[in-house]
Amino acid sequence: MSATAARALFESAFGRPSEALFSAPGRANLIGEHTDYNDGYVLPFAIPSRTFAAVGVRPDERIRVTSTFSPEPVEVALSELADLFPSEGTPRVPEWAAYPLGVAWALRERFPDAVTPGLDIAFASEVPVGAGLSSSAAIEGAAASAMNALWALGADATTLALAGRRAENEAVGAPTGIMDQMAVMHGHPDAATFLDCRTLEVAAIPVGFVDADLELLVIDTRTTHAHSTGGYRERRASCELGAAEMGVPALRDLTVADLARAEERFDDVTFRRVRHIVTENQRVLDTVATLRSAGPTAIGDLLVASHVSMRDDFEISTIELDTAVESALAAGALGARMTGGGFGGAAVALVRVADAEAVEAAVRATFAERGFREPNVFAIWPADGAHRDA
Ligand code: ADP
Ligand code: MG
Repeated sequence: MSATAARALFESAFGRPSEALFSAPGRANLIGEHTDYNDGYVLPFAIPSRTFAAVGVRPDERIRVTSTFSPEPVEVALSELADLFPSEGTPRVPEWAAYPLGVAWALRERFPDAVTPGLDIAFASEVPVGAGLSSSAAIEGAAASAMNALWALGADATTLALAGRRAENEAVGAPTGIMDQMAVMHGHPDAATFLDCRTLEVAAIPVGFVDADLELLVIDTRTTHAHSTGGYRERRASCELGAAEMGVPALRDLTVADLARAEERFDDVTFRRVRHIVTENQRVLDTVATLRSAGPTAIGDLLVASHVSMRDDFEISTIELDTAVESALAAGALGARMTGGGFGGAAVALVRVADAEAVEAAVRATFAERGFREPNVFAIWPADGAHRDA
């Protein structure tokens, strides 16, 4: 239990009991892939696995952080945080510590008049790192929630999410969007977070998985293809070109009705890249509408259409991801799609809880038959966002 582990680590590292406990979840994306950097729509949700932060106030203006990943505490003066993160080059602290210390830096910049006593923080996480579930947003969210309370900042969830992104972009140096932090901060049990990546408008969309006895199986193929970074860069470039040529700020400003015009204008590849983004945005809106009108068992076809669009138009799927989707569907999943950047990583399958074991067994059997690496398969469902636990 990571809550207990965070408290125990606090005591052993800092020699006193912690005063409070906060946590933030990882996240998964129900639908809306590669739409975030096109100013579009996404529909992620907070997952049950969480990162816990046991905290205590210090009598001075220093901050110490420690983690079960790396128990040697990292200590700095709050006033020196800005010097740790040069705009060029790597942070002057171990990389993991740049996430929570970056959040402290970003929040102090955002609330320059706040009284910010020193803090000791111990982290323990059950969110797997690098499995596409955003352990980075989880540690940022746990840190931001703790600082918001102990520094009495009164910040809302979006402000804390923005501090997390600033930490990740400017302190760690990872060029990520805002989806992960918003999903982690705004999550609700049995609801997904509809996010407009341009306006940062959010809405909790009840998914009704509990009543319908549904869950999402993550099928992590444990593969990454060598061209993933280059492929991602190329896709982003195609999207920017597509928007510029169509005379709009971002592809989010096009609708399905504009596609005929786009088809006349572009070469086949650019057109298909544009079509994925435009239709994917529409699928997010359609998923929200379908959840409201017909419930979660009716969204399967939208998930499958999203996968087909990533496979054929955006061309970021792989044989392993296609196999995961096809074998899950054949074994009774209501819908399935690859998720994340593509060129490897994970697929998700919407399944009835009663069918989950059979779907998992079918996927494993097919992977074994084809000689693929054994996948990691586990169930998730929408859970609560960042909060205080004690
Ligand atoms: P992910 O897809 O899991 O978010 P990232 O590369 O974005 O992968 O972030 C993972 C990094 O976040 C880790 O390598 C580590 O530096 C940091 N991190 C996440 N959780 C923890 C934790 N509990 N303790 C220390 N560092 C963490
Ligand atoms: Mg991350």
